[in-house]
Amino acid sequence: MSRILPADGVEFEFTVPVVVIGGGAAGMIAALAAHEQGAGVLVLERDALPQGSTALSAGLIPAPGTRWQRAAGIEDSPELFAADILGKAKGEPDPADAARVARAVGPALEWLADRYGLPVSLVDNFTYPGHGARRMHGLPSRSGSELIDRLRGAVEAAGIDVLCEAHVTALYADAASRVHGVEFARPDGSSERVGCSALVLACNGYGGNRELVGRHVPELADALYFGHPGNQGDALLWGEALGAASRHLSGHQGHGSVAHPAGILVTWATITEGGVQVNTEGRRFSNEEQGYSEQAAIVLRQPDGIAWTVFDDRIAAIARQFEDFRQAEAMGAVLTADDPAGLARLMKIDPDALAATLTEVERLKREGAADGFGRDFAGAPPLAAPYRAVRVTGALFHTQGGLVVDDDARVLDRQGRPLPNLHAAGGAACGVSGSKASGYLSGNGLLTAVALGRIAGQAAASAVREENDR
Ligand SMILES: Cc1cc2nc3c(=O)[nH]c(=O)nc-3n(C[C@H](O)[C@H](O)[C@H](O)COP(=O)(O)OP(=O)(O)OC[C@H]3O[C@@H](n4cnc5c(N)ncnc54)[C@H](O)[C@@H]3O)c2cc1C
Repeated sequence: MSRILPADGVEFEFTVPVVVIGGGAAGMIAALAAHEQGAGVLVLERDALPQGSTALSAGLIPAPGTRWQRAAGIEDSPELFAADILGKAKGEPDPADAARVARAVGPALEWLADRYGLPVSLVDNFTYPGHGARRMHGLPSRSGSELIDRLRGAVEAAGIDVLCEAHVTALYADAASRVHGVEFARPDGSSERVGCSALVLACNGYGGNRELVGRHVPELADALYFGHPGNQGDALLWGEALGAASRHLSGHQGHGSVAHPAGILVTWATITEGGVQVNTEGRRFSNEEQGYSEQAAIVLRQPDGIAWTVFDDRIAAIARQFEDFRQAEAMGAVLTADDPAGLARLMKIDPDALAATLTEVERLKREGAADGFGRDFAGAPPLAAPYRAVRVTGALFHTQGGLVVDDDARVLDRQGRPLPNLHAAGGAACGVSGSKASGYLSGNGLLTAVALGRIAGQAAASAVREENDR
């Protein structure tokens, strides 16, 4: 339920300068940034523990020109990163949107490390598709649950109030679309109202809302949704009702490598390091290297919507840095055999077909040639025994369309003017992936959560200051 109610004559139980809806990465970072600027902040989170999709993610954040890159001798810049973002999305996103987040994310990561002690490090042993430099950063476990736990710890240590089990159901706004406060439901069925001077929407996209997914992302209408179920599109619905512009609503991040039925993400390093995907007939069916996001719909078009990701021991060692992969191994989702025929038997597929597929892949690697799908195997190391395979399916991770924002993460109306006091960050805002799954560059999700989260928090705090000074 996401309503806009008239603010006229409404009495609020209490008032806080900056209210943030949503306690994922975007909300926590916005809260830290606003608090640091001296504003009183309240985070409202519908769950009993703030986690969001952030906790489900690998927690990997792309950032250019960081000190961690410099220490590893990697040259990179916001301009190169923005060019990669636009290249992946075929020029669809507004270049100003790409430049904004590419510029902001590196300093935001260093700020989180320096000021709040997040032990950030660079993923320096593989390159994600579409990234022209090794610029993915993460925490030691390479898991989003560590990211959200550490952000929550920082928010708590800063003394910022986070009210959990506070499901915001309505915004109170006036005729000029100024938000005066919000209403939230409590687990006992009661509801409360809090007034605010500025509101940050950090309640992500609409991946958890079947109806909105069916309308905007029909190719994944029946796909497994792998994100946080509480992300019901409230930001989009509220924003649109207030006259906000929205863009690229069909854009999304899918993933073509979710272990099935284990339901665990299998890192795409299994592919970029030289692995391949075959269907249940033992045949390859795509250029896997285009990216994991578009691969979701491609895998779902295979018999039974299933594929096998096939790789080897060397690649498994790289993948093991990820908590998810270790979990998949612990659950027995990663099969191992000394030769392709043995692997095929475990996979219960035709051994001759798998052997023929892998022989062809090895020939392409030896010759440094491209296949009929356009995948270039030049420089890819051969697969060697023992071989590994995981049964996977395609899933929707999160939506990338959303509310259009400006350089201060202020939500814009359909004429391009900022709404009076509304900001959006993370999945609530339009991302930088364009309108297609193939436009998603790895890390675009947390990119807007971290970069816009900080911008939104700072801007909301300064808007409050300006209002107080008037
Ligand atoms: C499996 C998986 C892996 C991923 N891996 C990566 C990765 O490695 N790198 C990357 O960049 N991105 C990744 N992503 C995407 C990334 O997780 C998201 O883009 C990012 O976490 C969005 O952050 P957020 O703060 O906007 O939303 P969230 O973290 O989802 O937080 C939104 C919060 O808002 C709350 N909320 C919603 N509605 C309301 C309401 N009405 N009232 C109160 N609270 C509300 C929700 O409960 C939730 O806690 C991944 C996603 C998935 C699903």
